[in-house]
Amino acid sequence: MKNLDVILNKDEFTRDEIIQLLKLDEVDEIQNLYNKATQIREKYFGNEIHLRGIIEFSNYCRQDCTYCGIRKSNEFVERYRMTKQEILEVAKSIYEAEVNTIVLQSGEDLHFKKEDIAEIITEIKSQFDVAITLSLGERPFADYDLWRKCGADRYLLKHETANTEIYKQIHPYQQFENKIAHLKYLKSIGFQVGSGNIVGLPNQTIEDIADDIILCNQLDVDMVSFSPFIHAENTPLANQPNGNLKLLLNTMAVARIVLKNSHIPSTSALATLDEKGREKGIIAGANVIMPCFTPNLYRKNYSIYENKRCISESPQTIIENIINRLKNINVFVSKSIGHTLKG
Ligand code: SAH
Repeated sequence: MKNLDVILNKDEFTRDEIIQLLKLDEVDEIQNLYNKATQIREKYFGNEIHLRGIIEFSNYCRQDCTYCGIRKSNEFVERYRMTKQEILEVAKSIYEAEVNTIVLQSGEDLHFKKEDIAEIITEIKSQFDVAITLSLGERPFADYDLWRKCGADRYLLKHETANTEIYKQIHPYQQFENKIAHLKYLKSIGFQVGSGNIVGLPNQTIEDIADDIILCNQLDVDMVSFSPFIHAENTPLANQPNGNLKLLLNTMAVARIVLKNSHIPSTSALATLDEKGREKGIIAGANVIMPCFTPNLYRKNYSIYENKRCISESPQTIIENIINRLKNINVFVSKSIGHTLKG
């Protein structure tokens, strides 16, 4: 590409430029793209990344997303809900592992009333000096209000795709406009908000992925997660090919360059796609890793996609592994709480 360096050194990007960057395919051009992404990551985060410990506390879900292994109509999933006590014990182990953010994730499970979640937030906040991220899907706005009041800091709610036709095809009960309205509302009441997409959905084009990045930029989200599609058993997309590693890494790198100081995780879906996925994600500009602390008993049933990596490794082993591998690329784990850098 003739003018690659010119584009990479810009501050703002047109849709066409974003598409051109996403399409890069030559080894040395991709290397330039990663170098720029790393340079920008280092500008904002130095050589540090943040860890966020995830608890997947329920795999019950009222939604039926066609890509997701724990969708409502998957009858082959053994459903579980952790008790409040179990959740608090795991929260303690995250805190003791010196991980400063606890991510509470589940299917959309209305069995947990807003008050139940509020109690868990209040309890965690009173016992441990940590940030709390919620990833519970779409709930009534009053639920978000209460949780924010109890001290929850962040909310992850991926828009999954900015192509409204594809959105409709893969979300039988949900509307794209609602997702965006929820993201805006969450932000308006003071949550640090995360969105993002899945790369490799059926019929998705590079242009669609450019639109995902542009949407995240417009929403000015604090965190952005791009994960490769990984097929899940017993779902309508079970026979679809997995997302493409190169395109996913290009997406992360372009997102870093366009979105600048947003937190971007190197996801476990990426680690599932590629043995060295976690490091590759960091090299492409990511600055967050989210080790799973869900107890082994339940972990195998939180099967949003197949062969989720680290299904049986203890979180301590995962973290030690991460630290050792990151040392090789001169990246270290931050001691700070890792709030948003956005104003
Ligand atoms: N119920 C919550 C949490 C969903 S799981 C919510 O709806 O927000 C978290 C993320 O996993 C989803 O946002 C989706 O992007 C991702 N995911 C689910 N199934 C996947 C699959 N098969 N491949 C890749 N990512 C997937």
